[in-house]
Amino acid sequence: MAHDFTITFKGVRGSIPVPGPTTLRVGGNSSCVQVNVLDHTVFLDAGTGIVNAGKDLVKNFFANKEKLKQIRATILISHTHHDHVMGLPFFAPLFMSDAALSIFGPSCYAPIGQPNDMKYILQMMMDQMFFPVDFDETGSIKRIGTLQTNDQVWLAEGQDAEHVRGQATKTTAKDKVIVTQYRAYNHPKNGSVVYKLQYAGKSIVYATDIEGYAEGDRRLINFAKGADLLIHDAQYTEEQYTGPMTTQGYGHSTPEMACKVAQEAGVKQLVLYHHDPNHDDDMIAKKEEGAKKLFANTVTAVEGLTLTI
Ligand SMILES: [Zn+2]
Ligand SMILES: [Zn+2]
Repeated sequence: MAHDFTITFKGVRGSIPVPGPTTLRVGGNSSCVQVNVLDHTVFLDAGTGIVNAGKDLVKNFFANKEKLKQIRATILISHTHHDHVMGLPFFAPLFMSDAALSIFGPSCYAPIGQPNDMKYILQMMMDQMFFPVDFDETGSIKRIGTLQTNDQVWLAEGQDAEHVRGQATKTTAKDKVIVTQYRAYNHPKNGSVVYKLQYAGKSIVYATDIEGYAEGDRRLINFAKGADLLIHDAQYTEEQYTGPMTTQGYGHSTPEMACKVAQEAGVKQLVLYHHDPNHDDDMIAKKEEGAKKLFANTVTAVEGLTLTI
């Protein structure tokens, strides 16, 4: 139903894509989650998982051209590390004049006087030194928004995403999907945006590339209070995090940290996400098994998994 959220995991890896025989069950593409709600298609991050999603959108568009008129998608970027944007230059709708894309993400660090907005970052990413087609040469209609503190994104049926600046975190707009966000700074060096999508009394929180704190990430716990679904970074095992080659400070969490937030925030379901590229299918299954003992309603993000809430 259009009033539900349909969440499909298109890419579940952190750092780099890892195709191959040891990752067949979990999948090898980098971060991307597709959310369908009302008549909107929303992508949380644009890692390599977005490439196949783009092909599906194009296929669906040509099969239903009379009805659809155009491809419309909203892309919410947590941060612009490669694993979260590397699929965008290969996202087929980007090149189509029949596509309207709204892309939102954080500003980047830049010396005073230098551009630091989202559009500039995307232009840099597709500079001729890195890619054969410039971002501004691509054929789609693009609206790029740089998110500041308290900005929201509103999604109303039949309309492009709206960038609403400086709103309080609560709103009463009942007929729209409301996206709220904050910048978490526990990921080097520029932080990562945590998103919440709310509609019809339901909510999803996307919290990737964040590192847990002692006694839990209080800011995230408050933000995710009562969410129906929490998608949380769970890159490292406890051994990696606390062992002699510690990964502490790399800006990622363990399943234990994810479970702590899920418990304290009272969310209904937890998804372990952003898997270490060095973890094979069996190791990820083991992480899930351990996490279920701490928070029973935990699932592992697996490429192709669809959840409806
Ligand atoms: Zn990442
Ligand atoms: Zn990152």
